[in-house]
Amino acid sequence: MALPTYHAHTTFCDGRDSAEDMIKAAIELGLSEIGFSGHAPMPFATDWCMTKAGEREYFKTLTALKEKYKDKIRVFVGVEFDAYSSPTDIPYDYVIGSVHHVLKDGVYLTVDESKETTRANIMNYYGGDAYSYVEDYYLTVSRIYEATRCDIIGHFDLVTKFIDKDPLFSESHPRYINARNHALTDLLETPAVFEINTGGIYRGYRNVTFPSLDLAKEIYERGGKLVINSDTHSVKSIDFMLSDVASALDGMGVEYLMSMNQILRVTRQ
Ligand SMILES: [Zn+2]
Ligand SMILES: [Zn+2]
Repeated sequence: MALPTYHAHTTFCDGRDSAEDMIKAAIELGLSEIGFSGHAPMPFATDWCMTKAGEREYFKTLTALKEKYKDKIRVFVGVEFDAYSSPTDIPYDYVIGSVHHVLKDGVYLTVDESKETTRANIMNYYGGDAYSYVEDYYLTVSRIYEATRCDIIGHFDLVTKFIDKDPLFSESHPRYINARNHALTDLLETPAVFEINTGGIYRGYRNVTFPSLDLAKEIYERGGKLVINSDTHSVKSIDFMLSDVASALDGMGVEYLMSMNQILRVTRQ
């Protein structure tokens, strides 16, 4: 069964391989469609986002590649906006809205850099109260549709990225559950589709997807829509676990969207 992915990074941001190499690999792997989601510029310098000029170049190059390979694979030129990304007028095919930062006391704290950074941020900015940090994260997540008008909600519970290696907080703590559920309930009111992201497993951080399949099932049962994404940063991980997750969801009776057409029909009506 041919599956798509709509979460892919290239050398235009923090990916390892060029967009053309990614497209060729996706064709080789038999993907039905591939969507690119370059990291939009942030209001401060980073080493993982496109620059303003790079963003224009990205859109131009990818639009040409879409045309070049249109008989072999459907390519979509999207973007991954952070809650705090700089606005743009580039007419992307679709938008992923993701939270990679918590804004605390005027400082953008990175959520996914390393467990050491996360631990230090909780100590220095939250007086060691990890659940206050989690609450700020989910508050930001709850506003991601409002902030970005995204079609896809990226890695909903990215804040858990390091907890398998460093149990800074527990996903079964009432304050964690409460914060997460508030964000979930708010986002279920929007048309945005939730991705099930296998990237954390590929990179060896987590044993489960963002969000887990159990949470994905809950989203589905509460009327939310799902799509499986690899959040790939190289030709090696383009289809990582896509079919495993698809089979698991099939076994659970959980449906997921299979094309960009389906996604945009849900989100752009
Ligand atoms: Zn992301
Ligand atoms: Zn990404």
